[in-house]
Amino acid sequence: MDNPVAQSIDAIAARLNAPAGADRRSLSRGLAIFAVYAVLYAVTLVESIADFSIWANLLFSFGNGICIAMLLIVAHDACHGALVPGRRLNRWLGRIAFVPVVHSASLWRQVHNQNHHGRTNLKGVDPVWAPMGVKEYAAASPARRFVERVYRSAFGPFVYYVFDIWLAMMVLPISKMTRSQWKRHLPDTLFVLGGFAATIAAVVAIGETLAPARSVWLTLLLGWGIPYAVFSYLAAITVYLNHTHPDLPWFDSEEAWSFHNGNVRGTAHVTLPLDIFPLYSEVMQHTAHHANPGVPIYALAGDQARLKALFGHEVKQYLLTVGAYRRILKACKLFDFERMCWTDFKGNATGPAFRDPLRAAEAPEPVRRAAQAA
Ligand SMILES: [Zn+2]
Repeated sequence: MDNPVAQSIDAIAARLNAPAGADRRSLSRGLAIFAVYAVLYAVTLVESIADFSIWANLLFSFGNGICIAMLLIVAHDACHGALVPGRRLNRWLGRIAFVPVVHSASLWRQVHNQNHHGRTNLKGVDPVWAPMGVKEYAAASPARRFVERVYRSAFGPFVYYVFDIWLAMMVLPISKMTRSQWKRHLPDTLFVLGGFAATIAAVVAIGETLAPARSVWLTLLLGWGIPYAVFSYLAAITVYLNHTHPDLPWFDSEEAWSFHNGNVRGTAHVTLPLDIFPLYSEVMQHTAHHANPGVPIYALAGDQARLKALFGHEVKQYLLTVGAYRRILKACKLFDFERMCWTDFKGNATGPAFRDPLRAAEAPEPVRRAAQAA
């Protein structure tokens, strides 16, 4: 067990948790984070439709979209059971924080906690930003190829989340991952649809009170349309950056995938030039979150540092600049699952081939034990 990679499957969470005990959740910190972003959301919403100049309203609409993205981060932690102590309180905080995000908490737990975290970067199970294979792209219809080109362009995050993720995976239980259990998901779907109707009614009512001369359509655009578009872009590009980079591998088979390959080697820690939104910077310490999703967001920094000490260069970290983003965008169009590298749309390799020399050491525990006993 001297090889740190060999320990990764069972031991990452235990070793990360060791210094601070099993449970680092804090009721006061969790509730404070929830309250701060709930209040910021409400204030920016009112200001976005108040009787100001249209430019001031637009500024607040943009800010309101950022607040919705922050509430997604809050709900994300709560749905992992990590924001505060207690399962029931986490579930309700997640549900409520998800109202402005228009996401069902139970669908999120299925798609994010089970599919995305259960098999991170395994195409066919992890549904978000899974790259098309080179052969798959070659066999696809011209329309499907066009869609992929749009998704993998700088414009992609504007449309990807709304068309590929939002309604089909996060509001209605109709995706292939959730439809068989639609009855279990129905209460949260009705809750979020009710919350959406209440949000729209509130936007219209506040708009009519504060700026009665303005058309209801302009009020809805400022109080919901623009904020939700800003949120969708931020949600899409955030998950894209977490798991898309020439150095981050994807997999198309359980045999090639492992916990370590998906969650440590397949996940990036993206740092920002300016730490404008501390909560956002914290969630971007994403390798630590994937190593143990039960760790609260306010405890990720220490875990990320310990992961780097454990695994060194295997933990991908980079500073997000315009140049870095352009290089990722240019390099990560398709993934060649035979050569195990990212390619452009012509199938030319654009990144290093992923090598897994320690594959045997990373076999699931029963296989490892059997191998050791043999
Ligand atoms: Zn997560």
